[in-house]
Amino acid sequence: MKRRTFIQAVIASTVLVSLSRTAFANDERKSIMIDKIVRSEKEWSDLLTPEQFDVLRNAGTERANSSVLNKEYDKGTYVCAGCALPLFESETKFDSGTGWPSFFQPIEGHTESKRDFKLILPRTEYHCSRCGGHQGHVFNDGPQPTGQRWCNNGVALKFIPA
Ligand SMILES: [Zn+2]
Repeated sequence: MKRRTFIQAVIASTVLVSLSRTAFANDERKSIMIDKIVRSEKEWSDLLTPEQFDVLRNAGTERANSSVLNKEYDKGTYVCAGCALPLFESETKFDSGTGWPSFFQPIEGHTESKRDFKLILPRTEYHCSRCGGHQGHVFNDGPQPTGQRWCNNGVALKFIPA
């Protein structure tokens, strides 16, 4: 390997390492605020309905328009169906026309996200910070003020009226 190529390779890998460290540090900082709930697969399957289990624990996707929460617009809070951690306020919900409950902003620090390669295009998956239950995916085609669309499975949420 030529000396210059070697130095370039070293610089590139150093940048990658520091980038992944930064991402990890951010995740860590967020997760420190919330005490984790850890349960076995058996415990979760006893606690959840089969539909909730498929989405929350297996990152499944419910059928579009299957959730009553899709058309819910009363004032209140949407909490994780696995552990009741508040994830979204009703003020941030909007009608995306997709058939899934959609929000432009989650409650800060109560969700964590990771890249998901289940479909060929990478998507950003997000889940509950406390129990790790999968909620949905976030896209950049939402309304202002954030421009984000947090596309959530209704079965993974419970609505608590204000
Ligand atoms: Zn949860």
